[in-house]
Amino acid sequence: MSNNAHVKSQMLKSTIKLKNEMGRHYLAIEQAYREGKPTAWATSGTPVELLYAMEVQPMLPENSATISAATKNSQKFIELAEDEGFSYDLCSYFKTNMGTTLSGTTDLGMGGIKKPTFMLSSDVICDTHVKWFQVQAERYNVPHFTIDVPHVVSNTSNRQIEYYKKYIQEQLWEFLDFVTEITGHKLEHDKARVVTENSYNLGKIWQEIFELRKTIPSPVSTKDTFGGLFPLFTMPGLKTPVKLYQRMYKEAKERVDNGIGALSNEKYRLMFEGIPFWHNLKYFNFLEQFGAIIVYEPYTYAFSKFMNPNITKEMLLDNPVKAMSEIMLSFWYIYDLKTRIQKFEETVRDWKIDGVILHDNLSCRPNACGLYDLKKHLMEDFDIPCLIITADMNDPRKLNTTQVRNRIESFIELLDRHKKR
Ligand code: SF4
Repeated sequence: MSNNAHVKSQMLKSTIKLKNEMGRHYLAIEQAYREGKPTAWATSGTPVELLYAMEVQPMLPENSATISAATKNSQKFIELAEDEGFSYDLCSYFKTNMGTTLSGTTDLGMGGIKKPTFMLSSDVICDTHVKWFQVQAERYNVPHFTIDVPHVVSNTSNRQIEYYKKYIQEQLWEFLDFVTEITGHKLEHDKARVVTENSYNLGKIWQEIFELRKTIPSPVSTKDTFGGLFPLFTMPGLKTPVKLYQRMYKEAKERVDNGIGALSNEKYRLMFEGIPFWHNLKYFNFLEQFGAIIVYEPYTYAFSKFMNPNITKEMLLDNPVKAMSEIMLSFWYIYDLKTRIQKFEETVRDWKIDGVILHDNLSCRPNACGLYDLKKHLMEDFDIPCLIITADMNDPRKLNTTQVRNRIESFIELLDRHKKR
């Protein structure tokens, strides 16, 4: 096993423009406040498209929390929240957001966020989202709407799923009334068509970029996808991120056509499941020293949304509310373990993956739940090498860099032996 300490993966040039794209998003937020336009906090997994379609400026506290982590501010906010009585074990996104509230920080560059007109949450990904916004809506004294999404567990029948769709649709109609009541804005069909079409195109190009990552060597690494995913959940429905993703796709395709990989000495192809450590993204460069590149992340892929073949562009354009209910009911994290194992197995095969790294995220039960069972099945039933690392996406106190480094080195040795068999 060779260790090439000098080798680094090359980011796409177009991804560097991501900063401008996100800058546009924060400017739009500032402008909304200046002009007195309605704003809403939204949790990931909610139909942010409907906010754009109703001329409400969305803000995603999870996105702000990642900025706190990347700028090395999350720990102090988390500790502030803990001083207020919130447990060490609670989600660090929540505590980062609570810490910014407690400190009165509204500086976007530190992950601060302002009081919104209202809040929108859902339990589609986690119940933390709902409790988080309940607590914050009370503190800020703003209205809060939550969308309840039943989870598809083993033995959920088609009849139940049809009922779930109607149940979600009813709530979405209610949500539109809620927004109209607060803002006076109505859902205009033409505007909704434009927004949903942009969102569809955005998700589809993201998926096409992932398709290119099936190529050996992979043209795209996590340097493009970890940050690149943000427009998918902060700006679904706008035109400019679509253009950014088109440029990323074009550049990645050129690499594929010319046999160029993001990592010049690609040797091991990996999957990383879970939220990355936003406080230490450079940590992932460590893998590259061994010629290991992450070519697929279920987490970043999940935000492309349009994975369910029932959701067509026509459905989105004609009946966005129905389409949104389908989307909410096909989000990656609502699947049971059996489906998850099957999807992992298919992905490992299609993306020619040598090993899987699973992030046992101390903040996040939906991410971490079932991880040991998943590992057991992938290793025993499909002979896929797996490594679980325990850490936290926003709390640097919970990442033991030396220990994880040692475990990754041992894992690479395992991959090496596995490949030589
Ligand atoms: S990290 Fe997990 S628990 Fe926290 S908000 Fe995200 S999905 Fe929910």
